[in-house]
This record gives sequence, structure tokens and C-alpha cells, in this order.
Amino acid sequence: MIKCVKCGREYDHFFPPRCICGALLEIGYDYSSVDITKWKTRERGVWKYKELLPPVKKVISLKEGGTPLVRAKIGEKLGFAVFIKDETRNPTGSFRDRLATVGVSYGLSHANNGFIVASDGNAAASLAAYAARANKEAFVVVPKKVDRGKLIQMIAFGAKIIKYGDSVDECIEYASELSRLNGLYDITPENNIIGLEGQKTLAFELWEDINPTHVIIPTGSGSNLYSIYKGFKELLEVGAIEELPKLVAVQTENCSPIASEILGLTSKKDFTKALGLYVKDPVNKELATNAVKESGGTAVLVREEELDLGEKELAKEGVFAEYSSAVVIPALLKLHEEGYFEKDDKVALVVTGSGLKSYYAEEKERFSIGGTKLSILRLLRGRSMYGYELWENLEKPMKYQAVYQHIRELESLELIEEAYKRGRRTYYKLTEKGQRLLENFEG
Ligand SMILES: [Zn+2]
Repeated sequence: MIKCVKCGREYDHFFPPRCICGALLEIGYDYSSVDITKWKTRERGVWKYKELLPPVKKVISLKEGGTPLVRAKIGEKLGFAVFIKDETRNPTGSFRDRLATVGVSYGLSHANNGFIVASDGNAAASLAAYAARANKEAFVVVPKKVDRGKLIQMIAFGAKIIKYGDSVDECIEYASELSRLNGLYDITPENNIIGLEGQKTLAFELWEDINPTHVIIPTGSGSNLYSIYKGFKELLEVGAIEELPKLVAVQTENCSPIASEILGLTSKKDFTKALGLYVKDPVNKELATNAVKESGGTAVLVREEELDLGEKELAKEGVFAEYSSAVVIPALLKLHEEGYFEKDDKVALVVTGSGLKSYYAEEKERFSIGGTKLSILRLLRGRSMYGYELWENLEKPMKYQAVYQHIRELESLELIEEAYKRGRRTYYKLTEKGQRLLENFEG
């Protein structure tokens, strides 16, 4: 079905990202014959776009895709239109159901012994469900540290769980080896690009709903970012759009191989609480980086302390996201502060996975208060102060931006609130909750 453009080698049921000769492989279609007006009357979902999906004999579906695009309240404050693409509303609670429906449907006749995927959690939970639906065995290779909710899904759907390595990139090669040895159909996106075809349908939906100017995407392995890019590229090919929306890759400061490459910074490979973004050496780095650059977009780094803020802001919108998805909020705010957006922009935030899958009851007190935040609370005990004044009074030297960030987080934690405004200055005071917290600290 795909022929390598460089050496002519053909691939018919399994599509590695690169041909044996080294050339990149891409699944293409006869775009001139695609009539997108047919899409209008069809039911929402991944398979609505079948002209731009690989042909399958039988569709294994749980009605994935067609997820809601919710107008975000935060946009009213910021002065432009912001929308949340709520991928938590997929059958197993994440965008990976788009990958699994295409990977499993396509691989069905080649998966006599079952399917396999290497995953940090979401893709494994998805494969477990879709393989169950197809009466096939699912083998999932996951790192030692996996979100518990995702693990529970894998168990519930009867997957064979293999724990291997520290981060998901270490699982990828192992899954590939197991697939070869045991005749399993591997749908790991880094090993087989078939599933990206499912993931790209998210772009088609965004286009149908709002035709966004910007798409902000949490980025771990880069496979979702690349898929969304491919989706928009195909919309260009079929004449639906005239230019790509700007794609924004978001990673954490702790683990930032793709975002740092885009920004020209040195990247770190440390652990991040946003487990889905803990990919140290992403195979798709080059593809994802090029996709962002070609779209004219950018990248943003988010600090670990901002993950709670992101989760909480999304919760205010009525969307419960996992940390890995919550990064879209701090990213949006950072770009807004830099004056990146214009008032006619339509910004889509991709919320990839549900917080239910990653929430731990014993982590109830997730908001850490210490250091600078505590100092700010102490300063506000006596009297109201405005941002610049707080900054001047802090003993530790730090950038005003950082202090401003702390103020915003304290506000979102409802520990401080606006007391009054004088001119352009906003004065802050402690809330009752803030006073109580301070009393607890001071004893
Ligand atoms: Zn080749």
C-alpha cells in the first residue's frame, strides 16, 4: 500500500516510520479524488473521514472521536476566542482511542496472536479496550511508573501487562522485539505509523468546528502533534484550507526535548509529574519540530508548579484533565502575556486525557505552598499590596515575572484576592483561607 519514494520498496500491512533504506515513509491518498462535501451528512467520529483513512475490511469502533469543542470562559478574560477540544470524552478517556480504532481495525487480519503497544498509559488502555472488542489479545509494554487509573483500565480490559524501563521511550524497542518474536501486530506509533491516521482526524474536527488560527498541543512523543499537522496538511491538499494553523508544542521544563529544540534551548530529560510528557528521546522529534516550524508556530515550556494551576483552571471550565493535558493553560497564559495572540484569533487547546485516570486520592493536598508563596502571604498579612510592591519587598532576588506567576497561582488557590484597584495597580489581600493557612504555618 505504501511505496518508498526513494527505493521503491513496498509495505503492505505494517508501516515503519522509515523504510529500510532510511527514507521517511508516509501514508498518502489520492487527494484529487476526495470529495469532502460527503463528510457533511455523516455521523461525527473518526470513521466519518474514511476517504482519508486506510482501507479496512472491518471497523472496530467504540464511537471514538467527534469529541466536543467547548468555548472556554478564560477567553473572555484574555480578549480572544479560546476553545477546549475535550478528548477526555473518548471511550477510554483519551485521544489515543483514535489511534486504537484505526490500528486495531487495520491490523486485525495480521494479528492472529494479538496486538501490542508501548505506552505511558493512555494508548495501552485504549488498545486493551479495542482488542477486547475485537476478541484479540492485547499486550502492553509500560514503564514502571504508570498512572493508576490507566493501569486499572488495562487490567479491566484483560490486557497482558509488561512493565519495562523508566520512561516510555525505553519500552518502544522492546515492544517491537516482542512483536517480531511472537507475531503480534504492533500499533506503537513510533514503530508503525498506521495509528497516526486515526489521530489526525482531530484536525479535521477542529477545522469543521472553528477552523482555528492556533492549536496548542501537549507534546510528549510528538506523535499527536505530528498527526494533527498531517491532518491539516491533508486539508490543504484537498483544498479545504489555504494555510496551516499555527501549532504550539507544550512540554515541561523538566523534560523538553522537542520544545527546547524549537526554541533553541538546551533540553532537560528529568522526571516530570506530567507522565504523558515524560519522553526523554522522542523518535518523532524531527517530525514534530519540523511540523511546528512549517506551521509558523512555537513552543512553550511549563514549570512543574504550574501543572496544578492548569488543572484547576480547566476544572473551572468543567473539564477534568490529567497533568499532561493541563499544561495547555499555563502555555496559553504565557503566550498571552508575551502578546502572541490577536483579538480575532481562534485558539484551540487540546486536552488529551482525563484526570480521572491519573488522580490519586492520597494526593489530595497537591498544592505546595512554600518559599516565595509563603513570603508573599506574610507580606500581605499586615496590609494590601500591589504586584510591584510585593516584588520589591521580597528578600530573595527574583524576576518580576516569577513573582507575578506566584501571585496568580496564589489567587487561583484562593489564598489571596483582589482588595481594590487604584489606577492600573491591583492591590491584593489575604482571603480567609489564606489567613488560616498562614496561621497553620506560623503555629
Ligand atoms: Zn526505501
